Amino acid sequence: MRLIDKRTVIKSVPRRWREQYRDRRWATVTTKHGLDISADAIYRQLQALDLDTCSEQEVIAIVENSSWTTILCEACEKSVEHAILIDGEGGTTGVLICPRCIGKATKFLQRGMR
Ligand SMILES: [Zn+2]
Repeated sequence: MRLIDKRTVIKSVPRRWREQYRDRRWATVTTKHGLDISADAIYRQLQALDLDTCSEQEVIAIVENSSWTTILCEACEKSVEHAILIDGEGGTTGVLICPRCIGKATKFLQRGMR
């Protein structure tokens, strides 16, 4: 179980970008300004950021997409600032749940155990 916050997500963008384009490093992405740029060139721009201090907007300016820095609760499907990642068993993907949904689940559980 891990706490996921914006910094965690920002720090993971280069790695996730690399994984997404692993077999298509030289595939081009057309920017909103109409320029064709390779996935690898975008990766190098991400690597050049100071991931400990850069803003979310700096990341979005490079990837031109806020989905890379969004934390989406898998229960309520809302964009949140923090979430808990409950790890899956045997290397399966975990589940990302926001504090509000964990609170609702805890109350639900407590009512059921009375
Ligand atoms: Zn939620």
